[in-house]
Amino acid sequence: MTVMTIEEEGLEPQPETIEEHNERLAGYIHDLDLEQVSAEELLRWASETFPQRAVLNTSFQHTGTAMIHMAVSKGLALRFATLDTLRLHPETYAFVEELEARYACKIEVIQPKNGDVQRMVERHGEYLFFDSKEKQEHCCQVRKDWSNNGLLKTADCWISGQRWDQSEYRQQTAKKAMLIDEYGTHRKILKLNPLVDWDDERLSDFITEQGVLVHPLYDQGYPSFGCVVCATPTRPGEPKRAGRWRWFNGQQEDGDDPKECGLHYNI
Ligand code: SF4
Repeated sequence: MTVMTIEEEGLEPQPETIEEHNERLAGYIHDLDLEQVSAEELLRWASETFPQRAVLNTSFQHTGTAMIHMAVSKGLALRFATLDTLRLHPETYAFVEELEARYACKIEVIQPKNGDVQRMVERHGEYLFFDSKEKQEHCCQVRKDWSNNGLLKTADCWISGQRWDQSEYRQQTAKKAMLIDEYGTHRKILKLNPLVDWDDERLSDFITEQGVLVHPLYDQGYPSFGCVVCATPTRPGEPKRAGRWRWFNGQQEDGDDPKECGLHYNI
């Protein structure tokens, strides 16, 4: 397992101005019909268009492992990364090792910068996320959004596993290809959701037929997972994201989905 904070990574941006870069990315959206391209073709296109600058960021749910499987089996040169909040389930840390061994690939494990989490915990406590939605979002910011912002500084293309099937919010907001702003700059990043139109059945069939490695928490009743305490198993009939931050169930604020951590808000 390769643990890193983003300062250590040292990948240099391409030698073009931000304006040229943004124009190039906007051109891809405008000129190519990326919404109609299959998941596998989109991954191939990303790997060829953004050498070393296309990163698949995953928390190892079925979408992420399915895409790793697709990429590796087709020999695509994509980077794979995960955000280590320092509160992940022990099973997840073990799963990183298992994936790397099975697919002979490297997973970049991105941790928060030194001191950020410690300062937050000293100020608000380890379990600040119980106090309010604002404090939960702050915790997610410090433990994962800031790491993700750092990761995206090393990339032009962010590949994510968002699907319409996952929630109403994602149905309304996610597309197969969209431009987002890099945090704190005017530079654009192409965000791809290659499996956005895959439903549960199609994904599940792919996992079974292809023998994709499956995160062990699925067998313990977790339909999605992240940090210990904030992700819990769901009961039959509950919505998929009901197990996330259970204490907020039934709350809705200002059109944002209380079950999103901020990582996938469109910025
Ligand atoms: S999921 Fe919970 S523990 Fe993890 S970063 Fe968000 S609020 Fe913090």
